[in-house]
Amino acid sequence: MSAAPSTTSRSAEIYARATKLLPGGVNSPVRAMRSIGRDPIFIASGSGPVITDVDGNDYIDYVCSWGPLILGHAHPAVINAITEAAHRGTTFGAPTEAEVTLAAEVGQRVPSVQMLRMTSSGTEATMSAIRLARAVTGREKILKFAGAYHGHVDGLLAEAGSGLATQGLPASPGVPKTAAAATTIVPWNDPDALHKTDTGDLAAILVEPVPANMGVVPPEPGFLELLRTRADEIGVLLIFDEVITGFRVARGGAQEHYGVTPDLTIMGKIVGGGLPAAAYGGRRDLMERIAPAGDVYQAGTLSGNPLAVAAALATLSHLNDAAYERLTATTEQLATGLRAAAKGADRAVQVQSLPGLLTVFFSEQPVTNYGDAANCDTEAYGAWCRALLARGVYPPPSQFEAWFPSLAHTSGDVQRTIEAAADAFAEVGPA
Ligand code: PMP
Repeated sequence: MSAAPSTTSRSAEIYARATKLLPGGVNSPVRAMRSIGRDPIFIASGSGPVITDVDGNDYIDYVCSWGPLILGHAHPAVINAITEAAHRGTTFGAPTEAEVTLAAEVGQRVPSVQMLRMTSSGTEATMSAIRLARAVTGREKILKFAGAYHGHVDGLLAEAGSGLATQGLPASPGVPKTAAAATTIVPWNDPDALHKTDTGDLAAILVEPVPANMGVVPPEPGFLELLRTRADEIGVLLIFDEVITGFRVARGGAQEHYGVTPDLTIMGKIVGGGLPAAAYGGRRDLMERIAPAGDVYQAGTLSGNPLAVAAALATLSHLNDAAYERLTATTEQLATGLRAAAKGADRAVQVQSLPGLLTVFFSEQPVTNYGDAANCDTEAYGAWCRALLARGVYPPPSQFEAWFPSLAHTSGDVQRTIEAAADAFAEVGPA
């Protein structure tokens, strides 16, 4: 395992070209690695748990494309399924049987998803689920939690003003004030704030059941149950965004893990098997409002794409009980080892994890909400990530993202990761 690219590397050459052609040199911001204070690494290939950059450096990969690759890179069954599907034609814009098979497979794993509609990205699935919630309730506002991410839907790129629960303000130039104002933002894990929220004109409570976009911040006991109860009391839909947690923290996602059932579920990542696909689904009476069964319009040229559906079916076919036991054990080994490595270097961190998900927060206190996450030592996290990359481990290049251990990571890979982490903690020093 070798060093991070120098300025004369091929990665650096490509990056110099890229910055003139792609904003920031990348097609999605986090890849630029700015928040850990370095330039991006251009990847040439991946196999199992390892990615190789254009300079020939190998890294044990804990990003795994931000979640879809629960079987690791270029899994033979997935590659075969995609190849076979491609030979039959890459897209028809007409229905195929495999889409029906996939909907049945998802419903079997996630029983609340009685019907689903596929889209090409999680953002699109969120946007469509919100439209449906507005249509069935006749109301417009959406409640979301501070620090949660549901894709770059205009109205959800909203941030809280001051106060416990507030009308959103645009979190990016270009987001209309009126779009952000239709979002109410409440602190995560705060029952009091939830009860005090004005629920007039509210259509839905939208929630990542395990927020993973401020780092992994699990719900406190009873909080998801409270959301279910509150949604019923005020007559709004409960929408779980399981783009990250779906088919990962358990066979049936976070709703199975916590035993709380939403009205609608947003899925992505694993449900596309590493190709661009996502979905939303839920109660039949709600989903039957979607066109052409019903009157709520939503469509997509590549929705239910045959290659993505083939990849998804191949991926799901490997996700049995034994796989989840293994993923749980792998995550546990990683979490325990990272805690010990930090302790060995007198560095205070909080390793928060669920099966297949983990964040190392550079914080002396447990992280229970966005405020806690925002207080982490992001400089030290960045230095630690740079030290990991130099030792052949590729962590999420942001304090506010999750690690995605996969079924391809062996106990030996995890052990090597922990050793690299210990050296990296020693380099960063105590705190
Ligand atoms: N919801 C969650 C919970 C996500 O983590 C993401 C993306 N990471 C999205 C929605 C948006 O998905 P996409 O990037 O496919 O648009």
